[in-house]
Amino acid sequence: MKNADLIVTALDSDGPRCLAMSLAGRYGKPLVNVSNAIYLDAGRIKSSYASCQWFIPREHKYPCLRCQGALDEKQIEADLMSERLKLMRQKAGYVIGTQDSPNAQVIPVNSAAAGIAAWEISLWAAGIRQPKPWIHYDLMSHTCEMLQGVADPECTVCGLGKNSYLATGDADVVLQIRQILLGK
Ligand SMILES: [Zn+2]
Repeated sequence: MKNADLIVTALDSDGPRCLAMSLAGRYGKPLVNVSNAIYLDAGRIKSSYASCQWFIPREHKYPCLRCQGALDEKQIEADLMSERLKLMRQKAGYVIGTQDSPNAQVIPVNSAAAGIAAWEISLWAAGIRQPKPWIHYDLMSHTCEMLQGVADPECTVCGLGKNSYLATGDADVVLQIRQILLGK
C-alpha cells in the first residue's frame, strides 16, 4: 500500500474495509471503495445497488468511509473480534459468523459496480475531472444518486485533531518499538 498510487477495495465486509481505509489514511493514499447490495423479498429481488465511493486524505470533499456513514460499526466489531472473543460470545448466545440477511451476489451487479469505478478511476488518473465523491446507482430504476459525506473534524481516520492517525504512517509503531527497546 505504501508504494501504491491508489487503493481500491472490493470487499464483502466492513471489518477489512475499515482496516484498508485506516491504512489509506495513515499513508495518505486515495481509496476507492467499490461495493454492491441486493435485497430480497420472499426469494425475489426487491432492490439492488452499486456504489463507488472515494476517500482522498486531506480533501474535505472526500472524507473517510466512516464519515460518509458507509460503515456498520457493529459489523466491524464482529469482523475484527479475536477468535477467543468470538468463541466466548458464541457461548454466551450471540450469533456470529452468519449473515443476517443472505444476499445473492449476482454477476451483472458486480459488473455495474466495477464499470462505474473503472470509469471514475480512468477520469481521475487522466486528470479529466475530479471523481464524484459517492455514486449510488439503483439497478432497478437505473437512476443515480450523488451523495456527499461530511467530515467529522475529530475523526481518527480523516480528521486533523490530535487523536487522528492521518498521514502518520508508521510513526507510532516506531515509537512503540523504541519505547520497548529503551524501556521508556
Ligand atoms: Zn473520517
